[in-house]
Amino acid sequence: MIDSKLDSYILEKYFKSYNRDFQKLSESSIKHYCEAIKKISQILRSSNKVQDSLYEITDLNELDDIRQFLDKNQEYQELDERGHRMYSCGFKKYYEFATASGFEKIGINISDFDNITDEVDNSPVLITDTVSHYKRSTILKNQVMLSSHYLCEINKKHTTFTAKASNKQYMEGHHIIPIKYQKEFKANLDVYSNIICLCPICHRLLHYGIDSEKEPLLTTIYSSRKERLNHSGIVLTKDDFLDLTLRA
Ligand SMILES: [Zn+2]
Ligand SMILES: [Zn+2]
Repeated sequence: MIDSKLDSYILEKYFKSYNRDFQKLSESSIKHYCEAIKKISQILRSSNKVQDSLYEITDLNELDDIRQFLDKNQEYQELDERGHRMYSCGFKKYYEFATASGFEKIGINISDFDNITDEVDNSPVLITDTVSHYKRSTILKNQVMLSSHYLCEINKKHTTFTAKASNKQYMEGHHIIPIKYQKEFKANLDVYSNIICLCPICHRLLHYGIDSEKEPLLTTIYSSRKERLNHSGIVLTKDDFLDLTLRA
């Protein structure tokens, strides 16, 4: 069991910044949304849907399951009614953020979030507890892909096909520095600056290709992301970067 901590989730930090800096919501509305999510987390905890908080959910399908669960949960529905829909409004706002459907409307440049630094508690307990969540991160990946307009960040001309789920060009999200190296970093690796939108060929090449073919791609990624990674507290020389990503 993880102790409840203030702002201990990257999605929570991003969501707060999204509301404050991009949606330009008042402090009182932000507080209302936070209260709503706190209460929702409590309901989810008592039903064993989460260990600690709604913000620990990093997978979009899981978030959808939770949405359906809440729709059918009587305690929640009654609470929401008494609270003049404050809870469902809060969840809706969060869902809009998590699915990135609000990003396009207000034209968010995802790199504007890079100054939000996040340190990871590398104690073994936390890592084993959250490792399955860390791996997928589809919420963050989808947000990044949308912000990249579903274009391959190695070469915008790489084309694929139209994905059924999004009705956009099919792309994949990739952690530039693999999450399995989290232990070597204080800064959280599961952040926007460390996630890239790639076409499936470039993506598979990075995972399954030979070093000499991976290296040019990694060099491109390093030069385009070095600064953004730095902003998020992920500081690496080119040699260290190649070393780490080639052995991935
Ligand atoms: Zn990958
Ligand atoms: Zn590509």
